[in-house]
Amino acid sequence: MTQTPRHFEEHGIPSPLSGDPAGSKASESATSEPVVVPNTVGLHARPAAALVNAAKAYASEIRLRRGTRDVNAKSLVSIMSLGVRQGDAVQLSACGPDAIEAVHALIALIASGCGVSEEEAVLPPSATSAIKPPQIQRMMGTPAAPGLAVGTIFQVRQHEIIVEKQADDPSRERQRLDLALQNAVTQVASLAESIADPDKAAIFSAHEELLSDPELLDLAISGISHGQSAAYAWQSAFQAYAVQLASLDNEVLAGRANDIRDIGRRVLRLIAGVQEEALTPPDNAILIAEDLTPSETAHLDRNKVLGFCTKGGGASSHVAILARSLGLPAICGIDERALQLANGTTVILDGHAGVLHLHPSTEAIQAIRTQQTRAAQQFAINLTHASEQAITQDGHRIEIVANIGNLQEAREAVAQGAEGVGLLRSEFLYLERTTAPSEEEQATTYSNIAQALGPQRILVLRTLDIGGDKPLPYLPLPPEDNPYLGIRGIRLNQVEPEILRAQVRAALRAAPYARLHIMFPMIATLEEVREARAMVQNEITATRCGSDVKIGIMVEVPSVAVMAEKFAQEADFFSIGTNDLTQYTLAMDRGHPRLAQIADALHPSVLNFIAMTSDGAHKHGKWVGVCGGMASDMIAVPLLIGLGIDELSVSVPSIPAIKAQVRKFSKKACIEMAQKALRLDTAKEVRALLEEFTR
Ligand code: PEP
Ligand code: MG
Repeated sequence: MTQTPRHFEEHGIPSPLSGDPAGSKASESATSEPVVVPNTVGLHARPAAALVNAAKAYASEIRLRRGTRDVNAKSLVSIMSLGVRQGDAVQLSACGPDAIEAVHALIALIASGCGVSEEEAVLPPSATSAIKPPQIQRMMGTPAAPGLAVGTIFQVRQHEIIVEKQADDPSRERQRLDLALQNAVTQVASLAESIADPDKAAIFSAHEELLSDPELLDLAISGISHGQSAAYAWQSAFQAYAVQLASLDNEVLAGRANDIRDIGRRVLRLIAGVQEEALTPPDNAILIAEDLTPSETAHLDRNKVLGFCTKGGGASSHVAILARSLGLPAICGIDERALQLANGTTVILDGHAGVLHLHPSTEAIQAIRTQQTRAAQQFAINLTHASEQAITQDGHRIEIVANIGNLQEAREAVAQGAEGVGLLRSEFLYLERTTAPSEEEQATTYSNIAQALGPQRILVLRTLDIGGDKPLPYLPLPPEDNPYLGIRGIRLNQVEPEILRAQVRAALRAAPYARLHIMFPMIATLEEVREARAMVQNEITATRCGSDVKIGIMVEVPSVAVMAEKFAQEADFFSIGTNDLTQYTLAMDRGHPRLAQIADALHPSVLNFIAMTSDGAHKHGKWVGVCGGMASDMIAVPLLIGLGIDELSVSVPSIPAIKAQVRKFSKKACIEMAQKALRLDTAKEVRALLEEFTR
């Protein structure tokens, strides 16, 4: 079995040309690297005419290639017949006395949009100094991990492992497969051991489970019994499996396709006797890849890699989770033209906005560096006050707690000054599992988290919030037409009551170690609260644990906000999930890329629901928090204070900054401003008011 060469390009900006300048003038030939056509109309009309005119100035024969077809670049009709659209990659080749010069100049012309000014022109990497800087140079993707990085592109290309299709002896092939699987188990186990954070290590334990996945193995074994080699049968099996998962209209499961490929390639390398090649990026690298595997991500050299963009994946993929835990800015689902950027291209990666800025000016880089320095200074100042309470100028305390998904984050939250945990997304602990965690195992996990917080701090443990965009592999629910409106959150109680009961029992066992609060997600009706409350009471009686545990609900469905006063008589506390409350109020899918701009939690309708919730809670002496993303939004903090919110549950890294923000304002002024906001017409007007107020 052989291996094709790696496609990692050398670091540095390669010449866009491979030429033959050594030959005589008459026999010069040159071919460009592929460049992306930026014009919105593609190579039609004016851009094509401009190219033809420029090409005619050279004596050489010049051909333009798209895909497998190439045509005479001096013929307008031929170029138009290629049907080149925006974003297509084209290549030029020339032969004749001035071939190198022609290709050099013409490829630069194409890269610059053929001199036709276009608002949205995107400059590809092979642009040379002859090219005019474009007006807009950015590529968009989905924000996967926040942060800013200035660095240079390093393309990651996976080499192909070439395998023989057929083999003579099925039993020998079967042995080869079994041996490779065994070795892979050993490799993955030692990889899991080498990772300090148990939650990240669990990703690799899940890989271990994939190695004994019966369907995957059946597929491979059946291939072998039909005369295929072990390598070919295994490759076909894991690829088919990955394609099947990737095609599902479900971000989380599609993310698992990458795990299958990761473990699949590991076994394939073992069968083929091919060494795993380490990534060797240069300093200050921004990686661009079709996809990174969790193994590659976990092993990225933090001294060299500043961030990465992948064409595949989504914000909840393992790779994104790992990036966030490594503190690496990252973008998933990046514009596929990013795969054609030349190594060494300078870029700014904005992981918060999901934008890759190409060829930034020196001033832009300087501005980012200044911003980074300022942010680091501000962060350091905020950190020195992080353990202090957040008290407004006129003496009102707002409790600042953390949103967490695992034990590691609980520890980090305490280090960042969290006064407790306002939202433990318990489903995050089990997203990787293919089998249900036992009650015992859950009790240990919850107790460890509670112990990390200590008896003075609050722990709001939210029961499983699965369904919608968060399916649990070990609990397949029947497909639904509208999963966000289907069996989600507390509604699990209707179909799998024992799962919820076991979770509550496990949670109660953590009660001695922190101020335990149990919270139910996706509550829509009073009956749901009553049933859930009765269930907890029964378990308290049965287990004789957690008699002082508080029972609260998430407010994320409009029905609860509207009837908040009634719900406040049944629940000990409220926590507003603004992510879902916004989605259900505006009827806009929270993950929809096209709706992201208008599905704004600052919309006055959402604010009025928050106000109703807060008023309803306070009438009955109950506290109300916000644990949706709005609580971590600096600009929204004074508004939430003004709406009467008692507690903000925020992402761990933003705790010190949110505390500092609270200290800047008086509650009285916040209330006056919030009253104005409630009467505004649009989210845009609310933003303008807040910008003015926080200036
Ligand atoms: C919310 O909906 O705002 C929330 C905090 O819950 P999740 O994002 O986990 O649905
Ligand atoms: Mg929610």
